[in-house]
Amino acid sequence: MNSLPLTLPTFEVASVWLVGAGPGDPGLLTLLALHALDSADVVVYDALVNENILKLANPKAVLEYAGKRGGRPSLKQPDISKSLIAHALAGKRVLRLKGGDPFVFGRGGEEVLALAEAGVPFRIVPGITAAIGGLAYAGVPATHRGMNSAVTFITGHADNGDLPRDVDWEGLVKGSPLLIIYMPIGNLEALSRRLIKAGRKANEKALLISRATTPNQRVVETTLATCGADSINSGIQPPALFVVGVTISLHTDLSWYEAILDRADKEGTL
Ligand code: SAH
Repeated sequence: MNSLPLTLPTFEVASVWLVGAGPGDPGLLTLLALHALDSADVVVYDALVNENILKLANPKAVLEYAGKRGGRPSLKQPDISKSLIAHALAGKRVLRLKGGDPFVFGRGGEEVLALAEAGVPFRIVPGITAAIGGLAYAGVPATHRGMNSAVTFITGHADNGDLPRDVDWEGLVKGSPLLIIYMPIGNLEALSRRLIKAGRKANEKALLISRATTPNQRVVETTLATCGADSINSGIQPPALFVVGVTISLHTDLSWYEAILDRADKEGTL
């Protein structure tokens, strides 16, 4: 990073940086994220962090996994916070690396609150959240003049696995022309039923964008009425986003990344 004509902040020992790793493509990391990967002594990462991003960590750094994978039980949130605090108190530069942006459905707030309470200094480095990165790579503008003046991020999963209870679906359906739903897989039927009940048309077009910004990206065109079946029949895999609203019509003309992937697939270079 020395060749850059700018000075990035020093990653101090005995501190934690809470960093967003973006949706997958390592090219979408921020300079601060790359700097943190280069400087950290310990990297505590989640399941959604792409392995090609972990390869950018300093070879001397200890990598510590804090998510669910391969049937291993996930660390509980208080345990993750305790581990971050313990590493910091041991004098380490601790990089807490999360998929997307740490403050968008990422529990980043809970982790930095625990750090603040323990008096551990921290920095927050935003990342490109899945909705922003995923829409860009699917060729769907989040806003488009003449089409929408608002866009909404929603989670399709509450802690107990159900649809979140604190969402005003009727208000959203009326007030937000573009809905981007995180964690939809598993609740697609319930989600689409709820949206239709609240006033969206059953034949309204929707997109499922899976593994966005990676070579495994897939975009499935569907409708509210058929999304449950289309999701199963297409074999689409999480992580995925469910996008409902006006600007998805632009996907047909703007799907630049799928064109790159198709070409690479044909040329056998994927
Ligand atoms: N903090 C993350 C979100 C964590 S919640 C962020 O800002 O992006 C996990 C959900 O994010 C997944 O269920 C999925 O809906 C979405 N997601 C994360 N990475 C994704 C990707 N590469 N493609 C599609 N959706 C993704």
